[in-house]
Amino acid sequence: MVIFKRVSDISEYIKRQKAAGAKVGFVPTMGALHAGHLSLVAAAKNAGCLVVCSIFVNPTQFNDAEDFKKYPITTDADVELLLGANCDVLFLPSEAEIYPLGTKAASAFSFGYLETVLEGEHRPGHFKGVGQVVSRLLQIVSPDFLFLGAKDFQQCCIVRHLLIQMVKADACFPAPELVVCPTLREPDGLAMSSRNRRLSEGQRAVAGNIYRCLVSIQAKQADAPFAVLKKECDDMLKSKGFHPEYISLAHYETLELLDEFQNGRPMIVLIAAVLGGVRLIDNMML
Ligand code: AMP
Repeated sequence: MVIFKRVSDISEYIKRQKAAGAKVGFVPTMGALHAGHLSLVAAAKNAGCLVVCSIFVNPTQFNDAEDFKKYPITTDADVELLLGANCDVLFLPSEAEIYPLGTKAASAFSFGYLETVLEGEHRPGHFKGVGQVVSRLLQIVSPDFLFLGAKDFQQCCIVRHLLIQMVKADACFPAPELVVCPTLREPDGLAMSSRNRRLSEGQRAVAGNIYRCLVSIQAKQADAPFAVLKKECDDMLKSKGFHPEYISLAHYETLELLDEFQNGRPMIVLIAAVLGGVRLIDNMML
């Protein structure tokens, strides 16, 4: 695995690899890697790509300074995991490499409705930051395929819109094909996340209840109104010590919020809840 810290070096390397016929599969991350991240690397590998993984904890997507400060950094362990996963290239840029003119000068994108609901409502500015960092990384890596996890479902929707905007702004921009990979879970159903390691033993023991809520809503959708199931889940999560932020039903493609299950429409349930100061999100397609 080749490790780059400078934009000019990785750009040059990728240019040469592409000229030699390589297809580049890109897996952007914020590090503290786990099996969920490695599943994206494996998906890129299986697609026959030269796999480029980036680790950059992007300050502009944190609306909560404390969350940014506490974000786990485990670079040595990450390098070992990526070596084990046969990752080809690791990009480890500094903030100055990503934002050479400062974060204020970075390009800004608007995502309209999509950035005002769910995560957007509870984390103001978060998706603007995601747009900034993903657009910059795409310009640097110019991948053929971009691998993202369904765990961050709204982020996938935002990036799909980002790609459209980048093509509109520059018809020559080589937009990668977006590949959304399934959520990897712990044995009790908890979606793997870098933030899980901040949970205490006791919190970890109850954290799987978010997944239990999703499963129960999926199983009972034909038998009860969404509002009733939502209340059941809200009560259950609160009884286990969670502070639920939202338990929402939405259209799968537009993220239009729905009050009730709708026959024949593709839907998704999304949950965000805070447990012991750790914010957890998850979702399930219906
Ligand atoms: P992060 O490091 O949290 O920014 O995540 C980097 C990428 O890994 C994103 O595309 C996430 O959606 C994806 N990811 C995070 N957790 C999981 C998981 N449990 N299963 C699959 N993909 C994941």
